[in-house]
Amino acid sequence: MSKTQGRFVSERKRSHLAGSLRANHAGQNVVLMGWVGGRRDHGGLVFIDLRDRDGIVQIVLDPSQAAMAQAKDLRGEYVVAVQGTVRLRPSGMTNKKLATGEVEVEATEVEILSEAATPPFQINDDSVSEILRLKYRYLDIRSERLSKYLRMRHDIVRTVRDFLSNEMFTEIETPILYKSTPEGARDYLVPSRVNQGQFYALPQSPQTLKQLLMIGGMDRYFQIARCFRDEDLRADRQPEFSQIDMEMSFVDQDDIMAVNERLAQVIWKKFRGVDLGPIPRMSFMEAMNRYGCDKPDLRFGLELQDLTNESKGTGFKVFDDVLAKNGVIKGLGVEQAGDLSRAQIDKLVDLAKKAGAKGLIWIKTDAEGKLTSAVSKALPEEKVKAIHKKLCPSGRGLSLVVADTFDTACAALSSLRLHFGRELKLIDETQDKFLWVVDFPLFEYDVEGGRWAARHHPFTSPQNQHMDILKNGEDKRYGESLAKAYDLVCNGHEIGGGSVRIHRSDLQAAMFKALGFTLEDAKDKFGFFMEALQYGTPPHAGIAWGVDRLTMILCRTDAIRDVIAFPKTAKATDLMADAPSQVSRDQLIELGIRLAPGVGETAAASPAPTDIKA
Ligand code: ASP
Repeated sequence: MSKTQGRFVSERKRSHLAGSLRANHAGQNVVLMGWVGGRRDHGGLVFIDLRDRDGIVQIVLDPSQAAMAQAKDLRGEYVVAVQGTVRLRPSGMTNKKLATGEVEVEATEVEILSEAATPPFQINDDSVSEILRLKYRYLDIRSERLSKYLRMRHDIVRTVRDFLSNEMFTEIETPILYKSTPEGARDYLVPSRVNQGQFYALPQSPQTLKQLLMIGGMDRYFQIARCFRDEDLRADRQPEFSQIDMEMSFVDQDDIMAVNERLAQVIWKKFRGVDLGPIPRMSFMEAMNRYGCDKPDLRFGLELQDLTNESKGTGFKVFDDVLAKNGVIKGLGVEQAGDLSRAQIDKLVDLAKKAGAKGLIWIKTDAEGKLTSAVSKALPEEKVKAIHKKLCPSGRGLSLVVADTFDTACAALSSLRLHFGRELKLIDETQDKFLWVVDFPLFEYDVEGGRWAARHHPFTSPQNQHMDILKNGEDKRYGESLAKAYDLVCNGHEIGGGSVRIHRSDLQAAMFKALGFTLEDAKDKFGFFMEALQYGTPPHAGIAWGVDRLTMILCRTDAIRDVIAFPKTAKATDLMADAPSQVSRDQLIELGIRLAPGVGETAAASPAPTDIKA
């Protein structure tokens, strides 16, 4: 019989999954199908690890038997079908590391279903470079780790779907070829062939669409929505990602937070086996003041302190200048770090500067109680001691002080806090700490652009007490307006964020005006939406969770690429399919597009056209 005739598949069905076999299957005749993992030859017998979706089982083959002639041809990653009998492994030969380790399958027949070229790396070998693994992603997906993560992702999404469906949400797909939506990144554009010179934008989120569904009376919508944002990538970002996107009508902030809190509780119960209980809330300002960031990792303390009072009237120019400009003096005390060397402290200074600070002031007392400081000449001794005492009450440790604008001081100290959290192993990795951050500012000032920008997005409602500021266009007070916006934070990651929306068209128009849109601009970009708001818009609110980040946390991995089947690199490329890639001239001509001189080449295949000179 030829190797490829498919006798097993056509005549005999897989009876069990390899990874599911246990001692109680002993004596049963089974048909298994999967990949050849390891292969070991021992005294005429061949042992292979047969791997399928469920795990690995050891197969024992005797190539001396006629029926098993093919056994000697088996190589790594061949796809095979095996018929045989499950038996208990001889005592002393069990493998505790394998779930199937008490048994093995004595093969009576084996058939090669598919041969395999020698793989560029061993499956499950984590030491292989990620570049190689991304190029052969389908091989990496065979690994226990990635396949487990992808299945976990499926289970999470399924749990979310069930939960939201039971809460009367309707899952609705919204278009991918659409119009720009403002989430603060650049759009990915898709040229239209039928309407040359015009472009679709891939959605940065389905924000306007989900609001239109509320105007359409759908009442509760959700979608596992693919979003696209063209921005410089960081380790935990991807250019396309998925959100659990939802919107509800006739609700206010507490209602939508309550549904999402229940969702978090259900997920954590199912996947972590823990009762989350009520999720605490903290205002944006409190989070910034205590942790220096709006998504604090609450798994450890190390809170920041305000030193503005201690820093007044010191005669120290750095403090005086900052205070005169309404800046702040903030500090962080690390009592465990009094013995850091100058070189180690220099690294901390670099870290603070990387976060934008002009400098970092430090004071330390080592184990012998000797106090040293970078500012002992500039600051009176009793001031140095007072600041150090406030930051390190035990009198020992390292005090770090930043004098700068509020945002910069917070950013620098937050980065130092996280650094020490990791370095000193202060983070309890066995716990997940949730937090709602609320009372965000409605606006933030864009210094470069010289204008106000929406902190969440332009559809977010002001809090009731600040409604008039927007309505009356009191631009001097925009900075004090708070938003009905909320972020769900877990272990220092923002896993969700949303807001109550503006549902009155006059207020939405005032918001666009506040953001510096001319009437024409607003009409051009959001005319359809502004018009829709006039036709009876229910009060509504929504939120979106990042599926990738959520899965990452639940899988306890730090790389977002681990939980995405086919992720992109930090340069937004796909190494396996080689995307993005050049297109043919014909395609460009059809689209009415000509590349600027020096910008890439088109693929060589097509003949040069007569109407466009390359
Ligand atoms: N569209 C928002 C986002 O992607 C979420 C929301 O406001 O519902 O962040």
